[in-house]
Amino acid sequence: MPHRSEFENLSSDEFTRAADTLPIGSTRLRGHSAEINSVRILLVEDETKLAESLKTGLEDDLHTVTVASTGEEGFFLAQTQSFDIWVLDVMLPGRDGIEILSNLRRLGDRTPGLLLTSRDSVEDRVHGLDSGADDYLVKPFAFSELQARIRALVRGRSSEAPSILKLGDLELDQFRHAVTRDGKSIDLTPREFEVLEYLMLQQGQVVSREMLGREVWKEGARHTPLDNVIDVHIARLRRKLDDGCERKMLQTVRGVGFVLRP
Ligand code: CA
Repeated sequence: MPHRSEFENLSSDEFTRAADTLPIGSTRLRGHSAEINSVRILLVEDETKLAESLKTGLEDDLHTVTVASTGEEGFFLAQTQSFDIWVLDVMLPGRDGIEILSNLRRLGDRTPGLLLTSRDSVEDRVHGLDSGADDYLVKPFAFSELQARIRALVRGRSSEAPSILKLGDLELDQFRHAVTRDGKSIDLTPREFEVLEYLMLQQGQVVSREMLGREVWKEGARHTPLDNVIDVHIARLRRKLDDGCERKMLQTVRGVGFVLRP
């Protein structure tokens, strides 16, 4: 059985062949597919034949493909369903691909967007205007090129600043503003959350009251020191984090500041 890392550089055909040699239901194969191959794609393309062949090819790569054939339908699907990437033809009846993308960006959706353009008509617009596209492909393109762009965009997105910070059994989700320790959720005020986030980002370095005042309270030069306010917040945070836990994570380093240790 090939080792998992040996799959990394295979083309999709080779991957499929290699995968065929694995026992059915192999957890390694499933794990791998979920990680590398299974991408939820919205394909907005009005040329039926092209849409069908792209869908078939992408599904062979184990992706999930939803096809829309008009701009309106594509815009509706992108707004109501969750995708890992949008692949949008530029020339569409109704709303065109650039319009769809810029409207979705205006609504705050940062899903990666790949535009399919024809060389003559719109390449300049895609280039020059702020369409909100992450990348584009000029028709006609090789299928392998589309595969590569999709992989790059989806990977790039998932490797953007991770939203979950971990330290020991403590987890902080920067995106959802949620904190758990040992799987149990901890209710924090916004300020306590910011203090904890800052401590976690320092990764075991001692943090002084002055640093907390500057970076969390954003008050560097204050006449009355924030020390008391900070101490109160630290005390509350410590209670919420450490009460009932054998290992105390939030520690005071006398005369210096505070540190979070796993
Ligand atoms: Ca078209």
